[in-house]
Amino acid sequence: MQVGLLLVLATMLAGCSWRDPRRSPPRRLAASAAQVQRLEVTAYCPCGSCCGWERNWWGRPVYSYGPQKGQRKQIGLTASGTRARLGTIAADTRIYPFGTVMYVPGYGYGVVEDRGGAIRGQKIDLFFRTHQQALEWGRQHKDIRIWLP
Ligand SMILES: [Zn+2]
Repeated sequence: MQVGLLLVLATMLAGCSWRDPRRSPPRRLAASAAQVQRLEVTAYCPCGSCCGWERNWWGRPVYSYGPQKGQRKQIGLTASGTRARLGTIAADTRIYPFGTVMYVPGYGYGVVEDRGGAIRGQKIDLFFRTHQQALEWGRQHKDIRIWLP
């Protein structure tokens, strides 16, 4: 009986951590409201080379370049303050503001929650958990369905 309970708990926990937010839209979306644009799609992960940080003498993560060079950097937090996860997209927020929903063929649903120094114009960056997965995505051009907030 205890084994059964453990199994139920394990299944519930696994259900939580393995749920991939890219499989379903993050909010109700009207198909008619989507616009389709061909964008250049690259990929990133939380690592220092993707996100521009390094460890200082004390082993603390700091910005490795740019105006905040040397200042403390919170790893894994997006520019909008959310925790980066599968489905997090970095975009040029002058065109695609935070909260814009996108459907990227081969990736799934995502939400613009981040920005990047090199992400300007018709270009987006998809979050992956590992650098290897980001490398495997590489650079692709895709027809993206876009729902502005
Ligand atoms: Zn990386």
